[in-house]
Amino acid sequence: MKTLNDFNFANKKALIRVDFNVPLNEKFEVTDDTRIVSAKPTIIKILEDGGSCILMSHLGRPKGVQDEFSLRHIAKKVEDILGVEVIFVDECVGPKAEAASASLKPGQILLLENLRFHKEEEAGDKAFSEQLSKLGDIYVNDAFGTAHRAHASTTIVAEFFPKSKCFGYLLAQEIESIEKVMKTGEKPVLAVLGGAKVSSKITIIENILDKVDHLIIGGGMSFTFVKAQGGTIGNSICEDDKMELALDILKQAKAKNVQVHIPVDVIAADKFSNDANTQIVDIDKIPNGWEGVDAGPKSIAIFHDIVMKSKTILWNGPLGVFEMESFAKGTIALGNSIAESTKNGAFSLVGGGDSVAAVKQFGFEDKVSYVSTGGGAMLESLEGIVLPGIAAILE
Ligand code: AMP
Repeated sequence: MKTLNDFNFANKKALIRVDFNVPLNEKFEVTDDTRIVSAKPTIIKILEDGGSCILMSHLGRPKGVQDEFSLRHIAKKVEDILGVEVIFVDECVGPKAEAASASLKPGQILLLENLRFHKEEEAGDKAFSEQLSKLGDIYVNDAFGTAHRAHASTTIVAEFFPKSKCFGYLLAQEIESIEKVMKTGEKPVLAVLGGAKVSSKITIIENILDKVDHLIIGGGMSFTFVKAQGGTIGNSICEDDKMELALDILKQAKAKNVQVHIPVDVIAADKFSNDANTQIVDIDKIPNGWEGVDAGPKSIAIFHDIVMKSKTILWNGPLGVFEMESFAKGTIALGNSIAESTKNGAFSLVGGGDSVAAVKQFGFEDKVSYVSTGGGAMLESLEGIVLPGIAAILE
């Protein structure tokens, strides 16, 4: 796996695919700069080598050229975070972009205009990719969030740098973290899968059964498993058409010696609302008119023990409706357990969608080993798919 450390960037122009798709408010101010901060180590390494950086990214989903999606809005923010002047050019290909790149001196940074102002970007157009490739000597991909897309700047452009392409630090770290769970992690390996639906996690579950010793299935997903096994789940969320699949998963798990843990008790609510009346009930005896919205105390204790004895932990999806304060306890408790286990030496990776939001919201970010930045890319990796953006560098 080639990374930045395999190259000396002195007097080289690095064409870097970053993920600066950051949220902006109505005044076009960056409201969450995590992605820019995450790209800093890669950019600084190149500058310190004596190279220059040409940064390319998309922002939002523009339809053609739309000023509200211009990367010029974030240039100042990038400059503040990096502590280096950022030159902005309002094109990403063509004579203007090429001239801006040609006049770039070692130690300087050029920010290109939104790649998605050209439809060729998402189409993975070869000629457009070739135009991009003219801007740099070495191609660096540091955008995990788009690595599952075969777009021009994330994948196709790499073809034009057969010997001079590599992963940036952020993308390399993402790949290593996923490998630690899927390939090289110390046993016992635990995956906690939560969230709303079985259907959105099926491929992940099937792929992960070969890699883990323990599997916790929590959140809304668990009720399909409970009902399939003959339990009564009241009004809890359930995918009836996935019940057979649920039973099949349990069978596969048994054959593969994976211990599956489903909550034994739940917080049941009489309506889907933060101020609902609640009671603690066995998960397979939820009364009519009530729905399971969070893991119960017995489940939390059982999950704590499993988390504490695991050496490698993957967490994807909340254990309850954590957006409502009254139903966030199970998710918070799990976060605490994972934080404690991590302190004791376990490797923990949180990734994919809402668990990242939960981890940030409840302040666990610095207490787990790694929080993945790529939602869809992370999910596809867990499904066992080799992401095109990663394959393009490895080729
Ligand atoms: P996902 O994006 O698949 O990880 O699902 C996350 C969503 O699942 C969150 O919005 C949670 O509110 C929701 N969720 C978790 N547990 C439950 C539950 N018991 N009933 C309904 N929704 C749930």
